[in-house]
Amino acid sequence: MIAQTAINPCSSPATIAAKTVFKEADAFLPTEYGNFRIAGYRAVETGEEFVCVYKESSNGDRSAAPVRIHSQCLTGDVFHSVKCDCGPQLERALKTIAAEGKGAVVYQHQEGRGIGIINKIKAYSLQDEGADTIEANLMLGLDVDLRTYGQCVEIIHDLGFTKVKAMTNNPEKIQAMRDGGLEVTERLPIEFEPSEHTKKYLSVKKFQMGHFLNMVTRNA
Ligand SMILES: [Zn+2]
Repeated sequence: MIAQTAINPCSSPATIAAKTVFKEADAFLPTEYGNFRIAGYRAVETGEEFVCVYKESSNGDRSAAPVRIHSQCLTGDVFHSVKCDCGPQLERALKTIAAEGKGAVVYQHQEGRGIGIINKIKAYSLQDEGADTIEANLMLGLDVDLRTYGQCVEIIHDLGFTKVKAMTNNPEKIQAMRDGGLEVTERLPIEFEPSEHTKKYLSVKKFQMGHFLNMVTRNA
């Protein structure tokens, strides 16, 4: 708690101590990438559910653990859509955690940057007509990005991770981790070569949303 206060002097200790999400369930989860645990959390005020797949650090291990806040993408994660890179990002995060023997993926149920699956399909339909991912949201009267990450960061803390390597290309997620008192020692890029399908989407992420994407060029 003292370390958190030092990192984030704007927050009072009382604010930090007040938990807003609680673990309700925890179980063993063997996967094709290795053995993990899966935990279910619930937000006190909203009842929102969070799922976390993780591996605990072994006793005495103080080195940074790889963590990812993964925003739900039904089309990419489940149906293996190649319109975005979410599926491969989730897979790489799990493989990294398995290889390092510790770490966590907090799975955030905020489909399509928070707009919901039906609106996301409507946005895809507009993209079929030529709109980009931001234009499509705006045409539907929706915000570009509705996500907040504070409770995901709280869950990472609750699992016992304080020193982390952020598996993300999104600067807002890194900032949220730091604001929440995590020590982010480095960023692990989680990037894939742009394809015919992803190059426009990734270009918007880089040049309009400020994501760290080294493989994306202006005229890709
Ligand atoms: Zn996606």
